[in-house]
This record gives sequence, C-alpha cells and structure tokens, in this order.
Amino acid sequence: MFAPRAVTKLLLLLLLPAALAAQQTRPERTNWAETSSYADVISFLDSLRLKGAEIRVGELGKSPEGKSIPYVLASRPLVTDPAAARRSGKPVVMIQANIHAGEVEGKEAAQMLLRDLTLGSLRSLLDSVVLIVVPIYNADGNDHWAAGDVNRPGQNGPAVVGMRANGQGLDLNRDYIKSEAPETRGAQALVDAWDPDVFMDLHTTNGSYHGYLLTWAPGLNPNSPPANDWARDRVLPEIRARMRARHHQEIFTYGNFRDQTPDSLKLGWETYDGRPRFGTNNTGMRGRVAILSEAYSNADLKTRVDVTYNFVREVLSYLVEKKADLRDVLARSEAWHPDSVVTRSILGPSTDMDVIAELTEPAGEGAAMYARRKRTGVFRTIRMPVFDRFVGSRREPLAEGYLLPPQHSQIVALLRGQGIEVERLSAGWSGNAESFKIDSVNVAPFSFEGHRTVSLEGNWNPKTAQLPAGWYYVTTRQRLGVLAAYILEPESEDGVVTWNQMDRDLRRNGEYPFLRLRTTPTTPRSLVP
Ligand SMILES: [Zn+2]
Repeated sequence: MFAPRAVTKLLLLLLLPAALAAQQTRPERTNWAETSSYADVISFLDSLRLKGAEIRVGELGKSPEGKSIPYVLASRPLVTDPAAARRSGKPVVMIQANIHAGEVEGKEAAQMLLRDLTLGSLRSLLDSVVLIVVPIYNADGNDHWAAGDVNRPGQNGPAVVGMRANGQGLDLNRDYIKSEAPETRGAQALVDAWDPDVFMDLHTTNGSYHGYLLTWAPGLNPNSPPANDWARDRVLPEIRARMRARHHQEIFTYGNFRDQTPDSLKLGWETYDGRPRFGTNNTGMRGRVAILSEAYSNADLKTRVDVTYNFVREVLSYLVEKKADLRDVLARSEAWHPDSVVTRSILGPSTDMDVIAELTEPAGEGAAMYARRKRTGVFRTIRMPVFDRFVGSRREPLAEGYLLPPQHSQIVALLRGQGIEVERLSAGWSGNAESFKIDSVNVAPFSFEGHRTVSLEGNWNPKTAQLPAGWYYVTTRQRLGVLAAYILEPESEDGVVTWNQMDRDLRRNGEYPFLRLRTTPTTPRSLVP
C-alpha cells in the first residue's frame, strides 16, 4: 500500500523532465565502480540523440582493430559544417579524451558534459560554443580490460581499466609528428576540416604525491605563438582561481617533484617535455590554444571525473567570456613569423612558487618507482622552484622556405597530414640556397615506439643550386610555417630526421637532401592537394 508521501514521490518521478531522466554513464550507474566500455559510450551517445540532444555523431576514423571512433559535434543551433561554425563567431573547441585508455575520467566527464550541455544544467553554455568532442579516442585500448594494478598501477580505481596503447601497440600521445596510427591521421583530418580554436586533451597523472586534484599544461614547445602564451599566462592561472572559488578544488601547473623525499621536496617541481610528438605541444605550436588536463590518480574516480568536468566547464565559460581576446590572439598567431626557429629545447629557468606536497615515507621492500612511497595524509605547502616551461638550446634563422627533391613524396604526405601547405615547382629553378653538411649521425641505442630515433649534427652552408621542375617547396610564410621549419630542420629534436623518415639519405660527411632558401623562388608553383 502506498503512503501519500510515496504517491507524491512516484508522481514526481513520472513528471521528471526528459533531461533529468537522461541516461547515466556507467560509473554513475555503478556507484563509480566501473568505467564505460566502447559499447557503453556508443549507446550513451545514441540515447542523447534519441532524447533530442543537439549533437551529430561522425567517424574520426577506424581503429587498427576496426572500431569506428566517434566524434561528436555539439552546438545550439547545431552547425552543419565548418564554414557555418566559423560564421557563427563562436569559439570552436575540441575536447579529446581517453588517448591513454587506462586514464578513464576524461571519457566519463566528456559524456556527462555532452549530456548536461545539451539536455541538462549547462544548456545555456552550449548557445555560445561549438564543440567537437572525441570521448573515446583510443577505442581499441579502452576494451583491452585488465586489473588497474596491471594497466594503471597506483591509480585509485576503477578496479578494471583499458590499456595505454592503441590496437597496434602505439602510444598515441607520442604520434603527433610521425603520424603512424590511423587515430592520429583521423584526428589530423578532423582538425584540418574544423580548425578548432582550442584543443583540450584529458588524462590522468600518476607521478608525485601532491595536493592537487588536477594539473594542467599549455603547449610546452618554446616555439610559442601568442595564443599559446595567452593560454599559459592568462587563461590557466585564471581557471585555477575560478576552480578554487567556485568548486573548492585545488589545481596547479603540471609537474612532478624532482625528489619526493621530504627533505628534498624543496629541490623543485618540474614539467614533462616540450616536443610536439605530444598532442597539446603540437597544437600549441600551431597557433591554437592547447590545454592538457591531468587528473590526480590518487583521487578516487568520482573526484577525478568531477574535477575534470569542472575544469573543462570553466575553460569553456572563460572562452565564451573572453571571446574577443581569443579572436585577437588567434589572429596574431596566424601572422606570427619570428626571426628564428628553436630546433632543440631544454628546461627553462624556474619561478619560485608555493607547491602543496604530501609527505611520504619509504614504501619498503619491492617498491621501485620514485613516487611509489607510503602516504601519510600530511600535506605541506613548500616554496620551491617551479620549472614549467622550456627554452631553446639551439635555434636556426627562420628561412623563407625549404626545397625537397621530387622523390620525397612521403615527407610531403607527412607535412600535408600536419596541415602544412606544400607547393611543387612547375619549372626549373636556379639560385642561391643553403645545404646542410652532416658531421655526425647519432642513432638511439634503444627502440622507442618502434623506432631507433636519430639526431644529426652539422652545418648549413651557402650553395648555388640548379634544380629541374618537380621539386617541392615549403614556405614558412604560412600559418604553420614555424612548425614546418621545425619538422624539416635536420637538427630538430622531433622532426623527420628523428623518426627515421630520412635514414636512407643520412651519412657522415654527406649532404642533407633538403635545401634552405633565404628568398622565395619566383618559379611558377602549384599547391600539392
Ligand atoms: Zn596520459
């Protein structure tokens, strides 16, 4: 028999608006014990569409194991194509999750955000942005289930998660230059089509024991256009303040303690890597706003999803609020043409800052990693040097362009994949150029991502060149001109030489096959499609 109160409750449940009845994510349904499978994500997106969410689901590409990787376009009104997105004047933001499939909270937060932006409490925000959400980028890795101890040692749940690599064993977040994974090429095509103003990549960090629920990084390559400086110096510090004020959640710039031993904490806090094989570093060099989000692996899943959700939401509302500033830095980034390109980088000078550390004790026998120590639950705020950026350790004058012999069509394909414009000489050309004499070829002793990476030493020298038609020309007078130079420079720390693309052409005392120009050739040229 129903008591009157229960009847009222039942009626209320029946009358709940569709939004509140919208499907829950798998962690929400399992009291945060489990993460979504690939099938869960697909059916979640289907359920949003059925309930009238302003989304369209497309295919980013096929994974090596044959899964269709979804991307979700969301806006109100729903834009039909990239030109319409551009015309709307709204920030176009790409949010990518699950590149490392054991790091699950981005995938869960992305689904919840899509639901709440289309049908729930964040509806008004979707009037002002165009979103491209890739909730399960590493679709293959996601369903390679194993115990958290195996796939994500030290992570505070869920008990079973996917693996880091994709279906061909590649770490997708080291693939943004060599572009060997179909996921990378699919994402490049998506970026090429939609040209997002902002890219967010959602991860989990499992390094040091600190006092932050989430840490962030802008693009870290020292070839940093105005949009990247803006993200680092303006956007992220303000998001930190808002997260504290609005959500009572402490976040900080990404890093690890140089030494977690209590007496050595003051040695400093250090970020990770500046090379564009990492997605956000690559985006930062492209003159777009790049934000890496790393939820704290020692926080439980619910907390990690919550902080990731809040972080993305605050970034979105900040971008809407500062739309004019965003337009300005993007325009300045497109015109950005510095005198030189940094070809190698080192950790830059530090700034002294307060950093919250958790005090730890030795974990005893069998504990290997520096960070795998015994926690005490005691936190200290310690003033220490924070190394949050890289600076150039080697640079070259930014040339007008590079000439590539006709047989290097695979390099042209790689550049085109990055969105870099390449032209082809329709007639012969002769004139003054520079050629690079190779003094040494250094091959890494170990394999990394299936490569023994290469670095070169040598010098550029003047040369008079006489070339037939058919050579390729890559101008640096384009939006991605600095990235093009960085990739093509023979001494680059993360270019075509690094990833064995040039191996057949490299020998000591030989000549690097690409020429460098100080002036643009006047020969007729056509764009390579
Ligand atoms: Zn990661």
